[in-house]
Amino acid sequence: MVIVKRKQLSLFERLYLPEIFRGLGVTMRAIFRRKITRQYPEEPLVTNAVTRGQPRLVVNEDDTIRCVSCGLCEIACPAYAITIDGQETERFIEREPERFDIDMLRCILCGFCEEACPKDAILMSNELELADTSRQALIYDIEKLKRPVSSLQDRLDYVYKLNNRWQNSSSTS
Ligand code: SF4
Ligand code: SF4
Repeated sequence: MVIVKRKQLSLFERLYLPEIFRGLGVTMRAIFRRKITRQYPEEPLVTNAVTRGQPRLVVNEDDTIRCVSCGLCEIACPAYAITIDGQETERFIEREPERFDIDMLRCILCGFCEEACPKDAILMSNELELADTSRQALIYDIEKLKRPVSSLQDRLDYVYKLNNRWQNSSSTS
């Protein structure tokens, strides 16, 4: 039989006081350190043109929608989040969406719709927040998706800059 000799603990140690004081020391040091926790939602996330938020439909300055209902974004969407029904229009573009829904619960913010669109009609906005009380309310229809081109201009400029970069690199290769 092996007898293990244990150190006799002092009263100070038996009351866990060393551990308590060590813990308090860690807390006191942390209190005076620079805070790195973001106080969301009072302190919102910083966004810029690179932010790939929720997709939105571009509305021109004359209040017309850019989308010509070609369906490319619907096909490109890997999450099957987009549903489009097209209709004829008297406008020069001839077709526009009668129905354009994006199921935001399915959307994975991949940006494929933006890349597929030949008309720069759908862009990834800097809108990140998504909350509602029902699943149905999170299926955004055309009215919920529309945004004036001015509010998406930064993203549009960024996308053009990226495309120019690709054009330049393919012309030099
Ligand atoms: S961002 Fe991606 S998942 Fe969302 S609608 Fe566009 S293609 Fe679909
Ligand atoms: S948003 Fe663009 S890709 Fe999608 S249907 Fe409209 S024009 Fe076509």
